[in-house]
Amino acid sequence: MAETVLDVKKLANFINGEWLHVNESAPVINPATGERVIEVPLSTKANVDEAVEAAEKAQKEWALVPAPQRAEVLFQVGNIMKERKERLGKLLTMENGKVLEEALGEVQEGIDMAFYMAGEGRRLFGQTTPAELKDKFAMSVRAPIGVVGIITPWNFPIAIATWKSFPAIVAGNAVVWKPATETPIMAYEMAKIFEEAGLPKGVLNVVFGSGSAVGDAMVHHDGIRVISFTGSNDIGRNIASDCGRQLKKVSLEMGGKNAVIVMDDADLNLAVEGIIWSAFGTSGQRCTACSRVIVHEDVKEELEKRLLTEMKKLTIGNGLDKSIKVGPIINKSGMEKIKKYIEIGRSEGAKLLAGGYELKDGEHGNGYYFAPTLFTDATSSMRIAQEEIFGPVVSLIPVKNFEEAIDVNNSVTYGLSSSIFTADVNRVFQAQRDLDTGIVYVNAGTTGAEIHLPFGGTKGTGNGHRDSGVQALDVFTEWKAVYVDFSGKLQRAQIDVE
Ligand code: NAP
Repeated sequence: MAETVLDVKKLANFINGEWLHVNESAPVINPATGERVIEVPLSTKANVDEAVEAAEKAQKEWALVPAPQRAEVLFQVGNIMKERKERLGKLLTMENGKVLEEALGEVQEGIDMAFYMAGEGRRLFGQTTPAELKDKFAMSVRAPIGVVGIITPWNFPIAIATWKSFPAIVAGNAVVWKPATETPIMAYEMAKIFEEAGLPKGVLNVVFGSGSAVGDAMVHHDGIRVISFTGSNDIGRNIASDCGRQLKKVSLEMGGKNAVIVMDDADLNLAVEGIIWSAFGTSGQRCTACSRVIVHEDVKEELEKRLLTEMKKLTIGNGLDKSIKVGPIINKSGMEKIKKYIEIGRSEGAKLLAGGYELKDGEHGNGYYFAPTLFTDATSSMRIAQEEIFGPVVSLIPVKNFEEAIDVNNSVTYGLSSSIFTADVNRVFQAQRDLDTGIVYVNAGTTGAEIHLPFGGTKGTGNGHRDSGVQALDVFTEWKAVYVDFSGKLQRAQIDVE
């Protein structure tokens, strides 16, 4: 596969437009085969300092480039990504394991985001508003913040980075990006694309390395004015408190415990398709993955039967093989976590209908594969129905009616995505109002967000910010109020005037 050959054996940081090596490195392992793909640098705080220094300098110039010209670079980035879509997709499958079809879909999200955010270069709308006084003009404008730090997870190594870096860059900021150590190749490829697209040196810097060294140094760096983080709740909570003490702006997108509700009037075949796709796609390693099915008791048995039939058809293996539907788990610790939850589910009294084991036969023995798993007769209070498992494990929770379904959906600490299958238009509108999640789907699974809508969750999933959509610009800009008095005299506002 010539187009997926990397041009280096070891990745290097991209700082101030230079490719800089560091001494320490770690292997990147293909989770489908156990093979070493490349070496990722393990950088230090000193490398973060270098990157921030370069970014601070570059940002001052970049902020003065007219936004439509900044956007030209993003259009170019989008074009190059389009040309390289196949290569990027295959490399993504090699580092992350998701099946090629999904990897290509993820790259497409990045391409869409490039063109969408490039369009913002001619909008970046502020407001004009009447002023209180005669001969006075009032308006608000978006201003860039400075250097922004973005910290991304391994499960969407390219899409999430584009949701963050593209709005940051078009708004006139400079970026320091720390990708997940598990999946650094997309960051390397994106840095090369930005370089070729003509982004000035220092506007995008990539520093590879662990969260505890590089991520922590970014969070504590005075020169970084915003942290945009996607990842787990434990890490996100610590980052938020560290940023809080420094009064640093922080945007968090974290875990989910997403449910599909299947009502008694649902199209069951459609519901099964939606559940299979959103529960077992990316091997359940999506923040929006369906890991609960809240099913009306009248259709529970039939739904179980149809789910089991479809689950048997799922092929599990290396995602580069186009006949494969479910790829591997990212690594050993991901696998251990899933196995732990299978035991928890059993001990809590949920009934295991399918799966529940690691696959080790033949080529499966070289990677980390887990059989798609279905628990039934779970209750809302069980840990398997409350906690994020991040694997191909779904629990059916039977309910008596619509109201109970909504209550069960909302009973978790997370609030990312939810879905309802029903033919009743009244229930559709009640559900979109009452489901306490940032994303709601009707007659579709819990995954499938589009980049021009806000992405993020309520409650424990985040802290009120959103990735993608125009709402992403709110993370990377400050609002500035501007008053222009053209009366030629001092007019005093906010005092009583005759
Ligand atoms: P994670 O372990 O929290 O890691 C996320 C990123 O944070 C990685 O780049 C990691 O670096 C870095 N990090 C780790 N410790 C850090 C520290 N002390 N300071 C600063 N950065 C640090 O999460 P993950 O396992 O990669 O991703 C899975 C989680 O992400 C799941 O909970 C999933 O639901 C969530 N997620 C949420 C969304 C959303 O939009 N809501 C989307 C996708 C994923 P290293 O790994 O390199 O050490």
